[in-house]
Amino acid sequence: MTGDAPPPKGLTPDEAEALAAASRHATAYRIAVTARPIPAAEDAAAAFARFDAPLPASGIPAPQVIDDLAANALPGLTQFTSPRFFGYVAGASHPVGVAADHLVSAWGQNAATSHVTPAVAAIERVMGTWALDLLGLPPDCGVGVVTGATVANTAGILAARHRLLARQGWDVERDGLFGAPAIPVLIGADAHSAPAAGLRLAGFGSGRVVAIDTDAQGRMRPEALATALAACASPPLVILQAGQINTGASDPFAELVPLVRAHHGWVHVDGAFGLWLAAAPGRAAQLAGVEQADSWATDLHKWLSAPYDAALAIVRDRADLTAALSLEGAYLPDRTAHWDPMDSVPELSRRARGVPAWAILRHLGRDGVAELVDRHCRLAERAAGALAATPQIAVMNEVVANQVIFRCGSDGVDGDALTARVLARIHRRGRVYPSHGEWRGRRVIRVSISGYATQAPDIDLLVEEVRAALADCAAT
Ligand SMILES: *Cc1c(COP(=O)(O)O)cnc(C)c1O
Repeated sequence: MTGDAPPPKGLTPDEAEALAAASRHATAYRIAVTARPIPAAEDAAAAFARFDAPLPASGIPAPQVIDDLAANALPGLTQFTSPRFFGYVAGASHPVGVAADHLVSAWGQNAATSHVTPAVAAIERVMGTWALDLLGLPPDCGVGVVTGATVANTAGILAARHRLLARQGWDVERDGLFGAPAIPVLIGADAHSAPAAGLRLAGFGSGRVVAIDTDAQGRMRPEALATALAACASPPLVILQAGQINTGASDPFAELVPLVRAHHGWVHVDGAFGLWLAAAPGRAAQLAGVEQADSWATDLHKWLSAPYDAALAIVRDRADLTAALSLEGAYLPDRTAHWDPMDSVPELSRRARGVPAWAILRHLGRDGVAELVDRHCRLAERAAGALAATPQIAVMNEVVANQVIFRCGSDGVDGDALTARVLARIHRRGRVYPSHGEWRGRRVIRVSISGYATQAPDIDLLVEEVRAALADCAAT
């Protein structure tokens, strides 16, 4: 045996050091995140200048690439993972999910088929089943793990397109949309722009879509839907919403879905964040009837704080999802014995993006998810109460979920201008980060509470910062 070289290791020392360095940088970033101002310290031009270098003629050692990356990215990072980030509707990349995501990249699985990557297919399948259980949806729905609610909405719309046209004798996967029967599309006037993008991608266009009247909180009015349904010449696609982005309000599903059923239509629900209200027993009643829909879209990277990017496309009859998305179209052989991820998503090759959500759900458990959702709703009530008690601030929504919108101003003051100045001042101070919005034609500041770590002191600091910014603006 003398003289035999040891078998080669899978990593060179340099490569192993790069992985270790990435882990050290990740941990250091997350430990220090609460000490950093939340907005990025530099703008897009400065960040570009920092990275704008010629491709190196010869390679740079792996650990140095990672060290340079961490150092040069830092000034251009917004602290989405801070418990005091209240912008958009964003999760905070739960550390358990981030840890699992390291493994996903290290394993390098192409998550297309159960034959080649049985572990990934099993984990994503179980994660989907857990999610259906938490969301109160039928356990045998088809579930696709996709990048975000925009794609999840698109997948639901494509499944609806398949079924509604098939019922009229049209095979859209084979024959396309040229010459196909028209399908009416109805959507709430306060819907998110994501389903509209899905409708464009699905060939429905956005100009033919009928907007249905909503109430003061953005919920679809049943009588307006009934009127629009009566005018439909064929069974429609109706897009409802759980969780309006400004108000957090959900459509009255128990009233709306039966109306659509009576017209043999398809109900799709955009529940990017709002669908998770079902996971908190004290909050679920506002979604009553949502489980009667045909398809649903929800994010994992919002209320569940899965690392970007992950979402679920859920369809009651899995065959409609696979017919619309599988590479093999409607002629898919029965694969129930082999749950192939690629049959339920638009991609063929993709990362195992459902694994981090599996880890987060396992870590939190049913009680943990319920606590998370309920806590965020209670914190929204706390924020709204304190803000409403502040002179010159008006809370603009009924707080029913994790969203609060408010506006600054009083008689004789240009409220839109003051609200914009106050938000800019809050961002410049850097300790909390709500974002801008518009509601009923007026500028608002929007507070979304969806980071896993956010607690009452973070909300109290938010209120303090709003008051301080308002005082700053009044003084200048
Ligand atoms: C965020 C959001 C979307 C879009 O989700 P992405 O994950 O950004 O693609 C769609 N609908 C609603 C209600 C949302 O809040």
